[in-house]
Formats: sequence, structure tokens, C-alpha cells
Amino acid sequence: MIDSLEGLKRCVMNISEYEVHGGGFSKKLTKIVFKPDPHGNMYCPKCGDVRKMKITNLFPQIDPNEISQIGLNCLNKDEDKYPANFINKVNQKITPSLWKYSCLQCSTYFTGLIYNGQSGQDLNVLSNCNGGLTTPNTPESVAYYLDQASRAQSVRATSAAMAMYRAALEHILFDQGFTEGMLGGKLKTLEKAINNGTAPKWALELETEFLKYIKDMGNGAIHSNDGNIEQQAIIDNDLLQRVTEVFRMLLFVIYEIDIHKKKLLESFRTVANTLNK
Ligand SMILES: [Zn+2]
Repeated sequence: MIDSLEGLKRCVMNISEYEVHGGGFSKKLTKIVFKPDPHGNMYCPKCGDVRKMKITNLFPQIDPNEISQIGLNCLNKDEDKYPANFINKVNQKITPSLWKYSCLQCSTYFTGLIYNGQSGQDLNVLSNCNGGLTTPNTPESVAYYLDQASRAQSVRATSAAMAMYRAALEHILFDQGFTEGMLGGKLKTLEKAINNGTAPKWALELETEFLKYIKDMGNGAIHSNDGNIEQQAIIDNDLLQRVTEVFRMLLFVIYEIDIHKKKLLESFRTVANTLNK
């Protein structure tokens, strides 16, 4: 996925090895090519699913001749450390740099910034609409907190992102009629509703244990924990990726599946009516 640095680099750059022979010697060389028309996949909040994106190099413009020259300089300077030096120099060349991603299905576009972060080269992706996980029928209040989570996540503010995922969950429950109390109280009411058979259909299809963990992790991100901030390290990007997976399921099951089924069924009815004429 091109919302990760490695994913973007894999889509725009091709690193290969080739051999040159001549005068009784052979040498292994490295070739770095920036692809002429790169594309990659990423979640599009407007389409509500993973989509193919066209990637455009905005700034600085990458000149293939300059890249070849960097390779030659590295080879001439210290052959032993080549090609690691070559790859490092190219990484320096694209840090910082700006990229544009355009969804091939809708008009949404994203700006990707490769920059030097606290732990070295990093990527931030910003969208021209509410970003992060949202779907066509996600309520505005839920989309707002998911957008906040995504923005925090993109600059590695992981505790801040987790707190926003917790807020998004609370707004989903509020939207679904669980309006009393804090998030813990809303979840208890949902459990009761499941037990007495009055819960919405989605609650029966989804393991509500997921929701409890999101609440607990969100609480862990904002509680003082007696001044101990070491626990915050547990909330890393990998964990947040899994949290987004849960939200992807939630949004689909709660807001999309019935509409999706209805549209499919209507399309089949149209076909059947045409065939029966
Ligand atoms: Zn799209």
C-alpha cells in the first residue's frame, strides 16, 4: 500500500542488478530506475475501499540522468560500499519530496510527503477530503474522528490516534441508539441488548469483544497511568493498522452491507425482468 514509505518506494522505484563484461573482467552494477507511469493501491475514503491510484512526482522532479550519475560517483568513490551508498544517496535525493496520488475511480487526491522524521526517512499522506477510514454511508461525526485518527497516525502520534479511534467508536454507538453514559456504559447497554434480543443485527454478526479492547486501548492512551508513559510504546503503528481493520469491518457491517445487498438485488431484478420479457 502506498500509504507506507516502503510501499510507495516499491511502486515508484525499481532497483535491479546487472553485469557488465569487458577486457577479461566482469562487474556487478546496480540500476535504480524511477518508473515512468507509477501506480499503487491505497484505501480511498470516498470510494470506501482499496483503489488503484496514479502516482505523480511533483517536487523535486527526478532526472534519470542525475540518478545514473549518482550511481557512477558512488562506484568511482568507494566500490566496496557500492551499491548501499548509491541507494542511500538516492534516498537522500527524495528526502524531502512531494508526490500526488489520484484515485482512478473518483476525484479524490492525496499529497504524499517524504520527509526526515525522528527515526529517519518517513512518509505522511494527506487527503483533500476527510481521510482515514470512512465509507459512503458513514455518519459525519464518526468520519470526523476517524479522520482525526488518520491524521495523527500519519505523523506517528500513535497515542493521539488511539484516543481518536476510541472517540469514533463512541460516536458509532451513539449513532446506533446507545446514547446513555460514557463508552463503558454504552458497551454494557449493548451487551444487555444482545442478551435480551433487542440489539441491532450487526451486533450479532460482530464479536463485540473487539469493541471492549478498543475502549481499553483508548483509555490506556489518555489515562495518566500514575505518570508511567512506558505503556504508550505498546500502541505502535502495527497495532493501529489492526485497529483500522476492525473499523473497516464495523463500517461495512453497520453502514454498507444492507445498501450493498439491496443494490445488487435490484440489479439482478432488472436483469431478470429483461430476460422474462
Ligand atoms: Zn476513490
